[in-house]
Amino acid sequence: MIEKIKPLLEIQNLDMQILEIQNNFRELPEKIFSLNNRIKSEETKIENLSQKVVELESISINLQNDITDIEDKVKANTEKVMRVKTKEELEALEKETGDLKRRKIEIEDKQIKAMEEMETCKKDSDASNTSFEEEILPMKSEISELEKVLNESKEEVGLLDDERSKLIKEVDKDFLKIYERLSSNNKPPIIAETSGEVCGHCNMKIPPQVYIKVLQGKEIVLAPCCKKIIIPKIA
Ligand SMILES: [Zn+2]
Repeated sequence: MIEKIKPLLEIQNLDMQILEIQNNFRELPEKIFSLNNRIKSEETKIENLSQKVVELESISINLQNDITDIEDKVKANTEKVMRVKTKEELEALEKETGDLKRRKIEIEDKQIKAMEEMETCKKDSDASNTSFEEEILPMKSEISELEKVLNESKEEVGLLDDERSKLIKEVDKDFLKIYERLSSNNKPPIIAETSGEVCGHCNMKIPPQVYIKVLQGKEIVLAPCCKKIIIPKIA
């Protein structure tokens, strides 16, 4: 029986190597994903800021045009005043000019606010650009490093899997079935060597009647302590 178990030990060895690699790199995809998200959100932030600056620039230009229009009208009114004939006409013109000047002050206030906001956006945009270069850009090379490591580990697992597939062909089918069934519910190792009357996996003492069965090697024996397949120590 022990001869049938031996190839399974080799498979188990591969399974443990595969598991170890997979454990080491389990968190990589998540990490790459979150780095990518961080980059994307910073890029969006910078894009939004420069879009806002463009919008405010256009608002400011429109307001300046409104101001120029009002100034032209006020100037025209000043000339009209010279030619008015009645008191009513004069009053109406003066009222219109007064309204225009008040309107101009309102628009100038708006323009100042737009320009102040634009300055703030420009400063934010500069700061974001600087931090992008210092903090975010290095993340891109970090990502490609992580991707490289991840791909290498996948390749490594692939090679071990190939080796495993070759070994499987040489294993006793019934024993393989038992091994696979136990593997589906348990982490490797599935098979443990004994050391004297002690379980090689968890170091618990094996009851003598069980140990006798192990030594007889006529059937598969599960350790009472950890339910691993226990086998005599292989010299
Ligand atoms: Zn045990």
